[in-house]
Amino acid sequence: MKSYLVDENGYYGEFGGAYIPEILYKCVEELKNTYLEVLQSESFKQEFELLLRDYVGRPSPLYLANRLSKKYGCKIYLKREDLNHTGAHKINNTVGQILIARRMGKKRIIAETGAGQHGVATATVCALMDMECVVYMGKTDIERQHINVEKMKMLGATVVPVTSGNMTLKDATNEAIRDWCCHPADTFYIIGSTVGPHPYPDMVARLQSIISEEIKKQLLEKEGRDYPDYLIACVGGGSNAAGTIYHYIDDERAKIVLAEAGGKGIETGMTAATIQLGKIGIIHGACTFVIQNEDGQIEEPYSISAGLDYPGIGPIHANLAAKHRATVVAINDDEAIESAYELTRLEGIIPALESAHALGALKKIMFKPEDVVVLTVSGRGDKDIETYLDNYKKETL
Ligand SMILES: *Cc1c(COP(=O)(O)O)cnc(C)c1O
Repeated sequence: MKSYLVDENGYYGEFGGAYIPEILYKCVEELKNTYLEVLQSESFKQEFELLLRDYVGRPSPLYLANRLSKKYGCKIYLKREDLNHTGAHKINNTVGQILIARRMGKKRIIAETGAGQHGVATATVCALMDMECVVYMGKTDIERQHINVEKMKMLGATVVPVTSGNMTLKDATNEAIRDWCCHPADTFYIIGSTVGPHPYPDMVARLQSIISEEIKKQLLEKEGRDYPDYLIACVGGGSNAAGTIYHYIDDERAKIVLAEAGGKGIETGMTAATIQLGKIGIIHGACTFVIQNEDGQIEEPYSISAGLDYPGIGPIHANLAAKHRATVVAINDDEAIESAYELTRLEGIIPALESAHALGALKKIMFKPEDVVVLTVSGRGDKDIETYLDNYKKETL
């Protein structure tokens, strides 16, 4: 049977792989040769489960959103990753990776961050585990995301400003990779999404797969069947989406809808709609769709949501889109804002701007009344209140 999961060489169809400099070969090999054994060991499972329960606050609820359901004429459940410690799904991954790092005897943690959410999630688990933490962040992002920078510092991390390129996520990632090349023996690189060289996309997807593991149990309890008709999630690099679909990926009864950031519109050039506009290329060690110009240079993406403006996309999702297993919709800034206000007024839940893109996808699908929909609210909107207020339009309500 064909599977959409990773093959033994680290590929999803033609996407994925590990395109890395020679100097990193040994540490990526080391990770590749240990991660499955660690993830499957009893000691890891016990420690991970305990922390997910008592530290992160799992299981996250599967909430039947009655008023939202009525509006869209189907049954919509929200998977509430916004209720996790630190306010999003990212903590599932950082808790898992730091446990792997410790088992591999690493002493020092590095990470890249764009908006600062992954930086905060990494600094959080480093404080918890008493490990040194260095976070690379573009100077432009440092200026835009002051509060997250202060949180990381309060948690004890060193935040290194990156001044190359456009001084954003892509440049921060390059700098983190450079650091890793200089300290391959003692340093563990915690990547924040299902991107990077194999085994990262698979490792992150497995750590986030707790989301769909819980959905299965919760749906069975509430609906008497463990699969929905639709799964909907937003995609930046793809980790919350990967977690949401992981245990359904080869079960075609559950349709997959991925919402990427359309920005100001996919034809405007100011967009992060990587799957729709990207061409095959290599970014940060993986072969996937990349937004690039005629000369193959990576183009700076744009989205109102800082968590979605990555110029690449996880190889898992590139393959699901190429094989038509997933439907990909681009949600523009204004549509996301409108959907965020809608959820807030209908359900009393202020979603993260990223999650608002997933909500925007509801308007692009024709549902049947008996359809059961699970939509992942990847994070809470506290960090986005200013953007919401700046973009508030009376006529959207
Ligand atoms: C970082 C972030 C995302 C995007 O990352 P994925 O890896 O695509 O999940 C989405 N939602 C929130 C709340 C985030 O913080």
